[in-house]
Amino acid sequence: MKIIRSPQTISAISKKLKLKKKTIGLVPTMGALHKGHLSLISEAVRENDFVVVSIFVNPAQFGPREDFKRYPRMVNKDIMLCRSRGVDFIFMPKPDHMYPKMFTTYVTVEGLSNVLCAKSRPGHFRGVTTVVTKLFNCIPADIAYFGQKDIQQAIIIKRMAKDLNMPVAIKIMPTIRESDGLALSSRNIYLNVKERKDALVLFKSLKLAKGLIKSGVSETGKIIHAMRRIIRGKNVRIDYVAIVDSDNLIPIQKITKGCIIALAVWIGKTRLIDNVIVR
Ligand code: AMP
Repeated sequence: MKIIRSPQTISAISKKLKLKKKTIGLVPTMGALHKGHLSLISEAVRENDFVVVSIFVNPAQFGPREDFKRYPRMVNKDIMLCRSRGVDFIFMPKPDHMYPKMFTTYVTVEGLSNVLCAKSRPGHFRGVTTVVTKLFNCIPADIAYFGQKDIQQAIIIKRMAKDLNMPVAIKIMPTIRESDGLALSSRNIYLNVKERKDALVLFKSLKLAKGLIKSGVSETGKIIHAMRRIIRGKNVRIDYVAIVDSDNLIPIQKITKGCIIALAVWIGKTRLIDNVIVR
């Protein structure tokens, strides 16, 4: 396994692999790898001749009052995990490799980037789509892997790749959870013992929604109301609870096949998200 820091070097290596007709899988991450990331990596290793994992805490997707500085960085452990899973290259650029002085070009997916999480994280998805475009340009991957955990991000990237004719397939992998249902996230380490318990309300409320749908409730208003009622706690604050169409992320009145139930909740100072797709 090689660790590459420069965009030019990873470009040159990837180009050579493509000339040899090798397939490349790309797994973009911000590091602090957990089993969620590892499921993406394992799928990429299974499906491609070569796998690149990018590890980059992307400053462009953090707001000025967000946790960019404190975001967990565990490079040595990440390297060990990637090596043990059969990754071929870790691409680990420095911020000024990706955003040199005079950088002024951004990629935005209109509409989808202004709803749900974007309301409390303005500019976040512009940062995501810009960095992912840069990664796609450096690494001509056949398949790029993203997690359902960040469903809005995955849908936006799918749309971006389609709209801009990017020659890469986007594969969305299921959310990996702790045994009690909490979705794995690098940010879970911010939670203290009490907050970790409170954080279960995300999964519980999604489970409640699924139960209601199974029992025949189809009015989304009723489901959202029931979800909001069980999300309680001294230190718990709802950012949003929404049931949306999976193509345009617009709220719907009645449950449809494939619609998304998504929520974001503040547990103390930590903002957590989760979702399910109604099958
Ligand atoms: P991040 O490092 O948080 O930017 O995540 C990198 C990729 O891993 C994204 O595509 C995430 O959606 C995905 N991911 C994060 N957590 C999970 C999880 N619990 N299950 C599956 N995928 C995940």
